Amino acid sequence: SIPTIYAITPTYSRPVQKAELTRLANTFRQLPRFHWVLVEDSAFRSRLVTELLAHSGVLSYTQLHVPTPRRYKRPGLSRATEQRNEGLRWVRRNRSLRNSGVVYFADDDNTYSLELFQEMRLTHKVSVWPVGLVGGRRYERPIVKEGHVVGWYTGWRPDRPFAIDMAGFAVNLKVILSHPEAVFKRGGSQPGMQESDFLKQITTVQELEPKAANCTKVLVWHTRTEKANLVYEPKHNQDVIHIEV
Ligand code: UDP
Ligand code: MN
Repeated sequence: SIPTIYAITPTYSRPVQKAELTRLANTFRQLPRFHWVLVEDSAFRSRLVTELLAHSGVLSYTQLHVPTPRRYKRPGLSRATEQRNEGLRWVRRNRSLRNSGVVYFADDDNTYSLELFQEMRLTHKVSVWPVGLVGGRRYERPIVKEGHVVGWYTGWRPDRPFAIDMAGFAVNLKVILSHPEAVFKRGGSQPGMQESDFLKQITTVQELEPKAANCTKVLVWHTRTEKANLVYEPKHNQDVIHIEV
């Protein structure tokens, strides 16, 4: 049977959250053998996310939550470290080597083609592909020679051991389970190095599996949603009804 894709999505409460998650759900609901691990950056599960998942059309999902410690909520620090690790913890506790699967870290604001999931589903260890609209360029991509990654096309910190965005790789479940100590790190991990720090623990550049026509096609985009403009949101004299947005 085909492997299940486990998409780990960190998410946090903000005016655009429901719109983002609706867009993601409209993509994910079309995928066979898919399990959505949604991890809220919060001390509790929110009703908004519970209800959204229940009506998302995604048949298989898990709603988790873990708050980011306040000291880490600062500009310039990595985001969603604790949430991705909580997702990994759930996978390790709830799946075993008897399950065939692939783990993917799917941020809530990116844009995912359906073809991307066809590509990643056959991942033996760790697969990689280009990501659009990231790193200060139109795209970043692994450079492939004779079936192997030999370098990175990137404008930003080309010294990174794995110069790849979170959206640019997937990991076989067996690799996640056989490296139980592999996690995302805060201490000593600068922003933009989380991917490298994680991948270093589980693989080598040499054994990466290039997807998307030897990394020549963009199937995922690191889109970022503009902050909602709420300058005219009333503090008093609010609407007579309450509407969830
Ligand atoms: N995120 C989070 N808590 C935060 C900030 C971000 O859980 O305080 C999530 C966010 O919903 C997204 C991921 O972490 O799924 C990456 O955040 P963002 O898209 O803001 O990062 P960028 O794309 O700018 O690197
Ligand atoms: Mn983002």
